Amino acid sequence: MKAHGILIRGKWIKSSSGETQESINPTTEKPLGLFQRGTAHDVDLAVDAAEKALPAWRDLPAPRRGEILLRIANLLRKNKERLARLMTMEMGKVISEARGDVQEAIDITEYMAGEGRRLFGHTTPSELRDKFCMTMRMPLGVCGLITPWNFPIAIPSWKLMPALICGNTVVFKPASDTPLCAIEFVKLMESTGLPRGVVNLVTGPGSSVGTALVKHRDIRGISFTGSRDVGEFISREAGLKKVGLELGGKNGIIVMDDANLELALDGVIWGAFGTTGQRCTAASRVIVHKKIKPKFEKMLVSRIGKLRLGDGLKPYTDVGPLINRTAQRKVHYYTGVGLSEGARLLCGGSPVKGRGFFYRPTLFTDVTPNMHIAQEEIFGPSLSLIEVQNLDQAIDAMNSITYGLSSAIYTNNVSRAMEAVERIESGLVYVNSSTIGSEVHLPFGGVKATGHGREAGIEGLNEFSETKTVYIDYSGRLQKAQIDVIK
Ligand code: NAD
Repeated sequence: MKAHGILIRGKWIKSSSGETQESINPTTEKPLGLFQRGTAHDVDLAVDAAEKALPAWRDLPAPRRGEILLRIANLLRKNKERLARLMTMEMGKVISEARGDVQEAIDITEYMAGEGRRLFGHTTPSELRDKFCMTMRMPLGVCGLITPWNFPIAIPSWKLMPALICGNTVVFKPASDTPLCAIEFVKLMESTGLPRGVVNLVTGPGSSVGTALVKHRDIRGISFTGSRDVGEFISREAGLKKVGLELGGKNGIIVMDDANLELALDGVIWGAFGTTGQRCTAASRVIVHKKIKPKFEKMLVSRIGKLRLGDGLKPYTDVGPLINRTAQRKVHYYTGVGLSEGARLLCGGSPVKGRGFFYRPTLFTDVTPNMHIAQEEIFGPSLSLIEVQNLDQAIDAMNSITYGLSSAIYTNNVSRAMEAVERIESGLVYVNSSTIGSEVHLPFGGVKATGHGREAGIEGLNEFSETKTVYIDYSGRLQKAQIDVIK
């Protein structure tokens, strides 16, 4: 089987551990290749390479950096189908969604290429005469990028592209379940003439490679997307680095009694079972008005029964496998928790026997907001239905969780919609649309235990740059802010 290397200073080499690990196709359970089990020593080499590449990259005019990004976008476009198929094989998401994942990378790369001609600071009047005030962006330096497996190309691109356009160099550590997608992506980037050492990639366990990045004293910024537990660990261990944390979610959809129920049904099914429920923005709670609950429950059961599980490469598959055996066990564990808490199972609730990490789309009803299945991130095809009497109760239920990433409300009443938009505690709110569907020119991120910082959009640049404030005094005399009285 092919053994892939780690990328340091433009060379694909073996890890100092001398060990490799497999990446497994979650549909067939067959290995896709061997990948280096990186070490803290490998991270030292990668950081050193990134530091050496930093001055020339930082000093390259940003529009020139943008041209390289545009070349990357074009190559991604040319290789979209190949990368999407690879992603379905390594991560399991259905092919149409895998294409969307690559498209998201194309979009952010083009967007950030354009930022090469903006990267705006601002100017503002001084309180003194003959003095000019402005701000400008500075890169952070060497950044560590740590990513999860559920968006194997899109999430790395959300970090790589703003980091690069701002003039940083990086060490990228992809998730252990999707190293192949990461390597193929970075190989494409390399082939555009990106200078050696600007992007370095080290595969391997979070406990060695990830921790070494987080604790490395020469890394100035860490951008992490992943679980809450690891996010909290990073928060404690990263010291004075600039840290962006995009963590878990427990997203909800409110369906009011005046909603278009067919539209809401489409949104709930897509939100809950798209990507097999393995999106940080997946909907895992439906908060439904009591007047329409019986009808909506029936509609859901009927539609869930029609979902086709299987190989994501087949065009008729709706729901692919979970990422690995541990994830399958976790989802099943939560089915047991739900039953023991008194929730009523309406469908699903069991793993599919045979090859692949499949789990039947699961629906619980009679769930109360404080049950564990309504509070904790299951990260699989498991949906909980919570009944409420009115909008007030619905918003309280929505906000009763520790997370705050995405949320949605289905209603045809504009006042109810606006009240929900204002009162829901989450980074993203959708009206008459599912919890999924962010676009790269708008900021993305959460509140509360979902972490802090925003990716994408102009806000995404803040994660990878510092503001420098500049005062230019051309008065020819000493002027004292707050002390001189100007008439
Ligand atoms: P995870 O936290 O297990 O792993 C994420 C990355 O962190 C991996 O590369 C892993 O190797 C690394 N890691 C693990 N331990 C580490 C350590 N001690 N130090 C440094 N790095 C370490 O998460 P996952 O299972 O890959 O992804 C699923 C989670 O990601 C879910 O909670 C999901 O909600 C979240 N997620 C959030 C967003 C968002 O934008 N908010 C997007 C996608 C996924």
